[in-house]
Amino acid sequence: MANYYNKDLYRILGISFDAAEEEIKSAYRKLVRIYHPDVSKNPQNADKFKEIQEAYEILSDKEARKKYNILRGFYREEIKKNAETKTVRKENKYDSFVKEAKKRTQREEKNETFTKSINEALDNLFYGKKLNKTAEKTQIPRDGEDITVDVVISCFEAINGTNKKVNILHTEPCTNCNGRKFINGAVCSKCGGTGEQSLHKKINVKIPSGVKTGSKVRISKEGNKGLFGGKDGDLYLNITVQKNPYYEFDKLDILCTLPITPFEAVLGCEVSIPSSDGNITLKIPPKTSSGQKLKIAGQGLENKTKTKRGDIIITVQIKIPQNISKEEQELYLKLKNISKSDIRKDFYNAK
Ligand SMILES: [Zn+2]
Repeated sequence: MANYYNKDLYRILGISFDAAEEEIKSAYRKLVRIYHPDVSKNPQNADKFKEIQEAYEILSDKEARKKYNILRGFYREEIKKNAETKTVRKENKYDSFVKEAKKRTQREEKNETFTKSINEALDNLFYGKKLNKTAEKTQIPRDGEDITVDVVISCFEAINGTNKKVNILHTEPCTNCNGRKFINGAVCSKCGGTGEQSLHKKINVKIPSGVKTGSKVRISKEGNKGLFGGKDGDLYLNITVQKNPYYEFDKLDILCTLPITPFEAVLGCEVSIPSSDGNITLKIPPKTSSGQKLKIAGQGLENKTKTKRGDIIITVQIKIPQNISKEEQELYLKLKNISKSDIRKDFYNAK
């Protein structure tokens, strides 16, 4: 590594000096696939691979790349490109320093101690103080990305709120290299130089009551981990409420279709209706017809600020039991014979 200032690291990776971080990464990955000792059996390629690794180590590190660019003169080109007067003035200060450093590097090419002193001198120039290399590399915090998972819940879980276990795949800094990608100049064997590792994790999440299909529930800081002190991303639960043929939602109202038997419709009955405050007993009055609506006020969904609550609106639906016993059938027959009601009177009289 001592003489890397004299090498064209960009040429080694086959990219231009203004290549974006992503280009550097992808160029490196392509070359690894060709020159990695596990792939190529040609012993000459082992040196080439080492050279590629070294080039990537410098160019993938923002500060190291900047230093290298200064020493190689690339930095000046970059500044020309940006044409920022403020930076140019700074560059003039570098100019004589860089010229001098370059001259001396050539003269003492093999002197590692000297290279170290260039590093230190540049550190002083950039930061005005001495930093050790490890501390310097941990300088740039990177925030973790948010992640989204799909969660399917039942209609009652949506009404009542629920706790769920969700499986997430998230990234954390590599535990082997602590996100630094390299260990003693070699690509980290655990993460292959990405500095990250993917982990499956099970976490318990709380889904509040009143969510609907399409609701997004945010779980703070459970996304991808930040690097070097960067913020952790958030986890978003993308909610789908399973279809239930008896329940629908209209804003804050819960619309429920309630099946009752013909005799319950005639005699009236009490039915238990699930709500977010537990089950509510609903009285169906005698002589209730199919389609009749009943309301349980103030037991629907709550709005976000918990200042308003909808209703449960019940639509009664008379259902005929399909497994009627002989005895029941006889009773229905008896009922038919004694019934005097003319239920279709209105039907015939209607104009
Ligand atoms: Zn690693």
